[in-house]
Parts: sequence; C-alpha cells; structure tokens
Amino acid sequence: MKKQAVRLIQLFYCFGLLCVVGTAVASPAAPGIAREHTRFIDYDIQVRIDPATRMLEGKSIIKFNKTRDHVLKLGAQFEVTHAYVDDVPFEPEAAADQSHVWQVPYAILRPHRIEIHWRGLLHALDETLDHEQTLGRPVAVSGAAGTFLPDASNWYPRVTDGLIHYKVQIELPAGQRGLVAGRLVDEQDTDAGYQARFEFTHPAEGIDLMAGPYEIASENYTGIQGEPILLRTYFHSQISPLASDYLEAAKRYFKLYESWIGAYPFSEFSIVSSPTPTGFGMPTLTYLGINVLQLPFIKDTSLGHEVLHNWWGNAVYPDYQRGNWSEGLTTFMADYTYKEQESEDAAREMRLGWLRNFAALEPGQDEPLARFTSRTHGASKIVGYHKSAMLFFMLRDLIGEDVFNRAIQGIWGMQRFKVTAWPHLQSAFEIISVRDLHSFFDQWLQRTGAPNPAITAVRQEPVESGHRLHITLTQSEPPYQLRVPVAVQTDAGEEMHLFDLQHAEQTFVVDIGDKAQSVILDPDIRLFRHLASGEAPPILREVMVNPTTATIILPDNGETRQTAVMLAEKLQRRAPQILSVNQSIPAVPVLIIGLHHEVDAWLVARDLPPKPDEINGKGTAQAWTLTAPQGASLAIVSAQDNASLESLIRPLPHYGRQSYIAFDGRQAIGSGIWPVQVQRVEIP
Ligand SMILES: [Zn+2]
Repeated sequence: MKKQAVRLIQLFYCFGLLCVVGTAVASPAAPGIAREHTRFIDYDIQVRIDPATRMLEGKSIIKFNKTRDHVLKLGAQFEVTHAYVDDVPFEPEAAADQSHVWQVPYAILRPHRIEIHWRGLLHALDETLDHEQTLGRPVAVSGAAGTFLPDASNWYPRVTDGLIHYKVQIELPAGQRGLVAGRLVDEQDTDAGYQARFEFTHPAEGIDLMAGPYEIASENYTGIQGEPILLRTYFHSQISPLASDYLEAAKRYFKLYESWIGAYPFSEFSIVSSPTPTGFGMPTLTYLGINVLQLPFIKDTSLGHEVLHNWWGNAVYPDYQRGNWSEGLTTFMADYTYKEQESEDAAREMRLGWLRNFAALEPGQDEPLARFTSRTHGASKIVGYHKSAMLFFMLRDLIGEDVFNRAIQGIWGMQRFKVTAWPHLQSAFEIISVRDLHSFFDQWLQRTGAPNPAITAVRQEPVESGHRLHITLTQSEPPYQLRVPVAVQTDAGEEMHLFDLQHAEQTFVVDIGDKAQSVILDPDIRLFRHLASGEAPPILREVMVNPTTATIILPDNGETRQTAVMLAEKLQRRAPQILSVNQSIPAVPVLIIGLHHEVDAWLVARDLPPKPDEINGKGTAQAWTLTAPQGASLAIVSAQDNASLESLIRPLPHYGRQSYIAFDGRQAIGSGIWPVQVQRVEIP
C-alpha cells in the first residue's frame, strides 16, 4: 500500500510533470481510527554519511510492540555488521534481489529490542536525471551536490508494512547539512562536521533523508496558539539569496491557514533544495529542485500548496482505499484560493481551465472521483485535483462561505491525525450546514462524466409588475441535482437567478421588472459541467495531445520540412500522422506547420481567417488555434524561417494552455486564451 500513499502534485501546468510525493503520510488503516492510538514500531537510528566517498554507516535500534508478524528489509548494497535481538544474534536472510531480510515473527510476545548495524556505498548522484526518472527510481544516491535517501530504497532496515515513530541522528562532514521530516531536537555545526537529531512522534510510513552543501536560513515563527514554529530553508549556495523571500512567503501561508483551519500541527517547516529537478512533499518539509525553486512563481503557488498539505494529507490522512480527497481540498484552498485573491477573472479563468481540460479527456480516461487515489497521469489529475476542487467550490456556493469554513474547522478538530474518508467530510458538512448532502456528494463522487445543462427555450410575457420569463433548462438522463446560475440581461443590466434543476427538463418562471433581451447559462462557470460545443474555443493542447490529431506539413524543402516534422513529433509526443498538403480539412483536429508565406496561402485557399491581430507580425513565429467552419479544431504554427521554427521545439510544448502565442526566437513574447462564447439565448 505504500505506493498508494505517494502524493503527487503538479507544481505548475506548463512543465507538466513535476510532482510531490509523501512517504510519511497516510496509511490504509480503517477510516476514523486514530493512528496515534494504534501501536507502532519505534526506530532509533544513527547514520553517518560521507558524500565524498558515498559511504553510509548506520546503526538502528528497533522496538516492536508486537501485534503481528513483520519483515525488516535492508538494501542489497549494504553489509550487515551487527544484528542482534536482545542478546541473541539475529542473522538476516538474503532475498531474491539480494537485499537483507529479517522475519520478525508474531511469536515474540513481549517487546523486544533489535539492534542492527550496517554499512555500504550509496549510488552516485546523477544530476542529469529528470523528475520522472528520480521518481521512478527508489535509489539512495549521494554526491557532493546532494544526498537523497528515499524510504523505498531500503537505506535502513525498515518494516515494509507498518507505521512507525522514529528518532534519527544524522552525521555529515563539515560543509554538509541534512534532515529528515520531524522536529529538530538538537543540532551541532562545527569545523569537525554536522550533527542533527530529529524526532517524529506522529505515525509515519517511512523516512526520507536529504543532505547537501546547504546554507541554512531560519526564522522563528509564532503560531496562532503561541507555539514556536521553526521555518527554514536548506538551499544550495546558488539560490541562497532566495531564502528570505521563501521564508516570508511561508509565513504568509502559515498566517492564512492557521486562521482559516487551525493551528499548524508540527513544530517546523523546511524548504529544501534538490540538485535534480524533482519535487517531493512530506510532513514538515518540501524538497524541490533548484531549477524549480528558481522559478519566480513557485513561492506564490506551489509552496502554499505544499504548506497546506501539512493540514490536509500529512495530518488529516486520506483513506486511500476509499478515495483521496486531500488533493482536491488542497487545490481549492491553495492554488484556487490564490486566484480568487488575485481577481474574480483569474479565478473564473482557472475554473474554465479545469472544465476545458475535462472536456479534452478521451472516452475511458475519466473515472469517478471516489476512485482517485494519487496522480499517476494527466487524466487522473483532471479528476483527482480539478473536479475535486470544483466539488468544494460548488459546495461552498451551496452552503455559503461561513458554514463551509466552520465545517472545515470542524473536520480539522475531529480528524486530526486520523484516517479520513469522503463520508467523514460529508457528515461534517451536513452537521454544520444542517442539510442532507447525500445526493450532492453521491453524484460528484460516484459518477463519471459531467452534467450538460442547457437553456432550450425562453418565453417572455408582460405582466402587471413588468415581465415574466419562462426558462426551460434541460440535461441528459440520469439527471444531476444542480443549482444552475442563469443571468438575465435587461435594459437595466444583468441579474443572476439560481434554478434548482433536478430533472431532465424543467421550466422555471421568474418575474422581472425590465424587459429581458437574453439569458445566459452559468456565465461565471460555477458548475462542473460539459462545456457546450463552441463555448470554449480551443487551446493549443486540445489539438496537440489529441490522439486523433492529423498533421499537415507545408514546407516541401528538406531541411525546413524536417524541422516541422520534429516539432510535430515533440508537440504530439508520438510520430505525427501526416496528411497531404492539398487534402481538404478532415473532421479530426489538425496541426498545421509552415513558414509565414506558406501558412498565409494555405489559409486563403481554404477561406479561413488570417493570422489573428493579437499575434500578427509579432516576433519570429506564432501559433494559434482556430475552429474550422466544419467544427474541427486547428492549431497553426507559422515561422519566418527554419531557424525560428527550430527555436519552437523546446518551448512550444509548454504553452498548451494558450490559444495563441508569439515567440521571438525561443522567448514567448505574448500569449492568451480566446474568450469564452457563453451559452446565450436571445429573446425575440
Ligand atoms: Zn497536492
């Protein structure tokens, strides 16, 4: 089940795959059980690491409070130099993969003390690994630039199936500093070397250790209940000037979430840099690539998400077998909240982006939210993060912000350090709001797909007080229970009405003063729903990632043609299916790549609109989407010459969320998303 506890977070959209993983997070124990009250295995570990020689020497005392059989496992690259249970030698067996294994049988009735000493060489740190490679390899690595010992690498003799408490003492040569998740009990940093002791007294699933030539910056923060919280950065020297900004940002998040939810449940929070471009999150710390930390927006977005996971995920544990709610709630209270703080438009843009991505899912990629456990691919993120965040957004709309926030605080008060499932959340929201939310949770958690509400008829008649509107809303069977916002536009302005749509077709009557000119369905995108065709003009990614997309390569000259094919391959992450230039536009999405004069001529020949004003004449290359009259989405890439086309190969795949973009060489110099065409019905 360990793998299910892996928590993946997309740090930012355009780079796609940076994620965060927590090892010391929730267990699949029965929901509602306070893990504090179950019995744990205690480790007392002392580890000395020399990154120059990559030698690790460790010593661990393990205490079992016996409830069942356990297995201890230590990586194959280590040599066991001492292994005793009480005073009796306790030799390991060799597993098939040559790792050392100790069976600790249930038959040992009273608490026992197992002591193991081990030593061995860690793998060399490979700084060229990308994020996925780092994630996919549970390998303990060390080098002058950094040491990372993920729990799953078996860098210490660890139980493979139980919850633990631990103490870890780390010893490193001078100039190196290191940490594990937990409370810093003691620290000595001298010319003779570095030593730090950590303690983790909440239930954990494992221990990840990080070290490096860090410069440490600390701030003492006083929590909402007056408790001291140690905020730290462990940064490589090249980014140490960023430390104070990160610490300031962390304080901002602590202020926000302590007042919104409740007191921070731990005594420290550290931001730790990694020499590889990765991103991991654990209780009390986040481990992010140097390159990630250098991005200017990380402290305003992902950092807050990471801080918030110390409430949702690392303190209130998701019940992975019954669905992971923590990514949705964290996305709603972090990423989405920052958009709301920015502006209503930015928030609406984010909601629209979620619906747009959902609309771009292929059949079969969608699954019920209740089945989401962790992010394994893009599609699971769209459900597990976005649909889930939208659930909380709609819930807040339904029960009101005050009630919503009181329920959030209630969940925190009741479920801290407990395994918590969706039904726990539901009952908290029901109790505080005094409402039956069964059908609300049921439809958003158990169903795949999304509702498709539409306005199908509007009739207006004069009445004594003004005008009466009869608005007919429809949706597919089986119907969702929806509170549908409908804007009525009159001479005097716009007024919003909420209609409780419960059937496949329902007519609502509303009296208004001034005569209505039109009605608009959900103009603010407050419902999780299928966007109507034409409601959301395409973004580049819709064409780029669609497996049915065909490609038209306009240049016939060898070199430029080759560049164009390479670009198509990069954008689609597969060999492009190339159509002949003279073929008429097919019904599937099409990617068109060419030089300016070729693209212009191609558009004219097909009676399509020319390059849009937003990007026309800007920079050396442009890309934009267009809906062909027959309904197919087109993405067009136009460059001034072969070199400009080649310059797009690296950056362009990262801009899939845009509808149009201009580049000067490799530099994006302007981009945007075509505005939404809302579902508007004019009233004659
Ligand atoms: Zn997350």
